[in-house]
Amino acid sequence: MAKIDLRRLILLLALSTGVVTFVNGLYASYLTQRDLLMSQALVANRVYAAKQALNTDNFIHSAQTHLAFSAQKLSHRTLQSERLREEVDRLRLQSNDFNSVFIVSSDGRVLATSPEGLGLVGVKLETEGARAILSKRAPVITDPYLGSTKHLLIVMSQPIFRPDGEYQGYVGAAIYLQERNILKALLDEDYRNDGSYAYVVDKRGQLIYHPEASRIGETVIANLAVQELINGREGAQRLVNLKGVDMLTGYAIMKSTGWGIVAQTPTASTLAVLDQLMLDTLLQTIPLSVLTLLGIWWLSHWISHPLKRLAQNVQAWEEPEAVERLRAIKTWYFEADHLKSAIIQGLSLLQQRMGKLNRDSLTDPLTGLNNRRGLRLALDTLLSAGKGFSVITLDIDHFKEVNDLYGHDVGDSVLKFLAEQMQACFRSDDVLCRSGGEEFVVLLPDLALTAAHKIAERLRLNMASQPSPSGQIVTISIGVAYMPAGDLSVEPVLKQSDAALYQAKCSGRNCVISAANMST
Ligand code: GH3
Ligand code: MG
Ligand code: MG
Repeated sequence: MAKIDLRRLILLLALSTGVVTFVNGLYASYLTQRDLLMSQALVANRVYAAKQALNTDNFIHSAQTHLAFSAQKLSHRTLQSERLREEVDRLRLQSNDFNSVFIVSSDGRVLATSPEGLGLVGVKLETEGARAILSKRAPVITDPYLGSTKHLLIVMSQPIFRPDGEYQGYVGAAIYLQERNILKALLDEDYRNDGSYAYVVDKRGQLIYHPEASRIGETVIANLAVQELINGREGAQRLVNLKGVDMLTGYAIMKSTGWGIVAQTPTASTLAVLDQLMLDTLLQTIPLSVLTLLGIWWLSHWISHPLKRLAQNVQAWEEPEAVERLRAIKTWYFEADHLKSAIIQGLSLLQQRMGKLNRDSLTDPLTGLNNRRGLRLALDTLLSAGKGFSVITLDIDHFKEVNDLYGHDVGDSVLKFLAEQMQACFRSDDVLCRSGGEEFVVLLPDLALTAAHKIAERLRLNMASQPSPSGQIVTISIGVAYMPAGDLSVEPVLKQSDAALYQAKCSGRNCVISAANMST
């Protein structure tokens, strides 16, 4: 199986580390931002609810003050209808805070209304709100109820007492909950265009104001924020509203009425900015990430390159230039440098050993000349080069006697002595071999038969003219033959040379015979 290379490994490591770190960072930042956004929205809604509760309280307080002033004014007069109509018109029109204003006598009969055309003047009011106001004889803000005009409404009232303390009736001002009214004006400002809205519930959890007018009058006590308000608690929380929408909700209570106001923002729209934020973060990190990746890509090349080249060159260790090529590799960091040194050391040692083994296998240990294997190799080389060459075969005369007379060690010394004479006699290009026992073969490239014969003769004379290590002269017999360039086999020339040697032996030894001169 192909193994992954170092460069890819470094890239992969860097990439996976980068991605994990980045995703982790992005996720952590997402969580932090999300919590921050949600808590900000909760605080904002809570503050908004409290502020609107205060505003509404202020409105109710000022409305009651106006009504109280009127009631005070009316207490000194008999309740004549013309004067009363003026008063209710003034109350309704000066501020536009009320949908209708009316004055009711102590027996519940309507004395005047504004607007005038309600058709109620002279009518005795029987509604629950009207009865509650009459029975209390005190300032009242009613719960929502269905008025005589079939509007769902709340009424604020101030009692009218004569200076002697006799109860005369009341001044009432109605807010029609399902029509344009002061609560809508106060609360329906679209305070953020992100789906946020506010609504008002009374103490029983009934909607007094809601942006969807059709829901006004609905009881919503199942809502967790409304339950908190009914239990007299203000605050903020994340909840799922009755429509199943996840909301960040703040809620506060109005002191004057005990009503609750709830301001809320859909969690989804609060978090919508987060997606953009994350996308921006992602986009902002892209240029630097790409640069970093390029840097790592480049660095991975520089880290892996020396090791890759070392690996490639070690594979070709048998080639003679392998060590030189290894030396040329630039290893710029510690591990690669040490690896290179170790490989070069090991390889040099290996090559030395291999070279020695090789030489040993081709060399005769006694004389240092080529052995038969060396001879065979030299013949193959000459043959493949297509060169012509002469062959000299020589054999020591009566060598057995040398051994017999002086011992085997002296015999060995004589063999070495002959080898030295040969080395002195022949050229460096000539291949000297001990072909076995006391027989030798010399290959003389590019040398003609006669020239070879002359050299052989000189060697023979050398031997014949000086004593050998045995103290006696030892002679040699020599056969010479020639192989012309282009011949395809070396066997014939070896045979000819052998035959010439044999002839020399037969001719009385201590002589040189060329194959060409052989008598057959
Ligand atoms: P000839 O003139 O016919 O060649 O006679 P010769 O005695 O040289 O011939 P022969 O082949 O009968 O004897 C060769 C001798 O060479 C026999 C052997 O003892 C000796 N010899 C062969 N190899 C070695 C060697 O490595 N060292 C020694 N000291 N003697 C060797
Ligand atoms: Mg022999
Ligand atoms: Mg011999």
